[in-house]
Amino acid sequence: MSLTRPDLDALPAYVPGRTVPGAIKLASNEVPYGPLPGVVEAVTAAVSGVHRYPDMGVTELRGRIAERLGVEAERIATGCGSVALFEHLFRVTCMPGDEAVYAWRSFEAYPIIGATTAATSVRVPNTAEHGHDLEAMAAAITDRTRLVIVCNPNNPTGTAVRRAELDAFLDKVPGNVLVALDEAYREFVTDDDVPDGLVAYGDRPNVVVLRTLSKAWGLAGLRVGYLIGAPEVVAAVRKVITPFSTSLPAQAAALAALNAEDEMRRRVDLVVAERSRVVEAVRKVYPDVPETQANFFWLPLGDRSAEFAAACEQAGVIVRAFQGDGVRVTIGTPEENDAFLSVIL
Ligand code: PMP
Repeated sequence: MSLTRPDLDALPAYVPGRTVPGAIKLASNEVPYGPLPGVVEAVTAAVSGVHRYPDMGVTELRGRIAERLGVEAERIATGCGSVALFEHLFRVTCMPGDEAVYAWRSFEAYPIIGATTAATSVRVPNTAEHGHDLEAMAAAITDRTRLVIVCNPNNPTGTAVRRAELDAFLDKVPGNVLVALDEAYREFVTDDDVPDGLVAYGDRPNVVVLRTLSKAWGLAGLRVGYLIGAPEVVAAVRKVITPFSTSLPAQAAALAALNAEDEMRRRVDLVVAERSRVVEAVRKVYPDVPETQANFFWLPLGDRSAEFAAACEQAGVIVRAFQGDGVRVTIGTPEENDAFLSVIL
């Protein structure tokens, strides 16, 4: 007899990008330039207070995020990475038998969360161009659907949905279904036609936007994500958050990072410039790389994915293979990207 749920045996574990000492890591969509200025000092200063619990209400940080975005603080919840906020969203929306609709392939945490909460996952295959099929997603909504996720830009394919298609989609979603816009990679978007979910849809009570400080803001190791939504939704999410899960150093670091927005933008510009250069070079060999609005790109290699990733690793570059489907490559520094290009060109 098992001490844990028998259905967990069949559940694939979350696979993090591998870290191999000495190798170049282009596997986890991190920004390669180190913590933003002021972050190390803020964390160091916070450490002397870690015998006390942090502010459970995350008051200062939520206030700062709210002010930056021009919304009320009661519309913000923070979590241990935005991945935790997704788990909370599944829990506050789906009772047993209720459905959560999302695209596939997309962020691999969705099905893992779906399988261990009450929700039934409904995965809608991406288009041939590797982007969300919003028409099919709208058609997949039933009277049991409680949650719909749109990952924009989509991890791992990098594709993004445009304003007109998202408008049309949201108009089709019933008002009692919560739509979560996963904007973990928002800062890397350069196409003006890809809407900022908060600006475009922030006044719709059934839309929540999730963002993270893990990527552009360089705080992956400290785990800070946030959600912007209607006050009732935020209040429900905050009820189920693991108490104190935005730690004291994390709160201090997030405040410091948000003070370094100009440097964040400078780094994002470097990544975006490299994205154009690298994707253009890669397409000479693999013309099928879909357009990307994120800090990574997708190589739809199908059955050759694992072999490709192994060849990169042999050459000291770690990329992320999704067995039988494709390989996701994060944009690194120019030197790191050159190392990747030298493997494939
Ligand atoms: N959403 C997407 C699409 C992601 O790719 C990630 C990180 N891989 C997250 C959410 C969660 O990021 P974090 O938990 O670090 O905030």
